[in-house]
Amino acid sequence: MTELIASIRERYEYTLDQIAEAAQKSNRNPQDIRLVVVTKSQPVDVVQAAIEAGVRILGENYPEEGVTKINSLRGQSGVEWHMIGHVQSRKARLVVDHFALLHSLDSLKLAQRLDRFAAESNRILPVLLEFNVGGEESKSGWDASDEARWDALLPDVASILDLPGIRVTGLMTMPPLGTDPEESRRFFLRLRLLRDHLAAQFPKADWRELSMGTSADYEVAVEEGATLVRVGTAIVGARKYKHSSPVDKSEREA
Ligand SMILES: *Cc1c(COP(=O)(O)O)cnc(C)c1O
Repeated sequence: MTELIASIRERYEYTLDQIAEAAQKSNRNPQDIRLVVVTKSQPVDVVQAAIEAGVRILGENYPEEGVTKINSLRGQSGVEWHMIGHVQSRKARLVVDHFALLHSLDSLKLAQRLDRFAAESNRILPVLLEFNVGGEESKSGWDASDEARWDALLPDVASILDLPGIRVTGLMTMPPLGTDPEESRRFFLRLRLLRDHLAAQFPKADWRELSMGTSADYEVAVEEGATLVRVGTAIVGARKYKHSSPVDKSEREA
């Protein structure tokens, strides 16, 4: 276990250094960027080791798997859990009850359910709107690959901003996986431009967060304005098991 902690700590600190370097290179304050360590499909002991290594924000993709870990690591003070994967409507309550931020709000229908549960739980859930900037069929999020269609997104965004139980704080994307991190740059840029477009349309809302960048391309994401990067394998290593809690196939494929 101590070896595991040491190796995670080393990779975590290396990643923080790389983020700081990328921030400085683009005249940004490293303090404005938060590192979310993605622990999906990692057993609880790896998550425990990550916490002991100093990790403060954990990202999970599947609500039930995340809640299982949250419950078994209860009492770990100062740790924040983010939901970063596609959430089926019937899992909305788990997200409202257990997560500090949902990165992956991808439909008005899900927003409405989250809003209802948030009202029942007497909380306001911070969310990011997920956009599919690469236009891949397999990806979640509103299709924002073609700038000519951005205005068609406005009615959904307006409806979501009106919901009292959720609070939009920015945008998220997962671009096509390329072989070179530079291939992601135009997708990150597109998300930033979309954010600027939405901010101009809805100036009273809060658009500060841009969640983008993974192990493959987080430095490029920081250069393009990321405020949250989501890094898994580069810090906690290869995923140890396939998603194994009793959920249906559609969640696993998300
Ligand atoms: C798995 C995942 C990540 C992390 O990917 P790594 O390649 O392990 O860094 C980030 N974001 C989302 C949405 C993911 O599903």
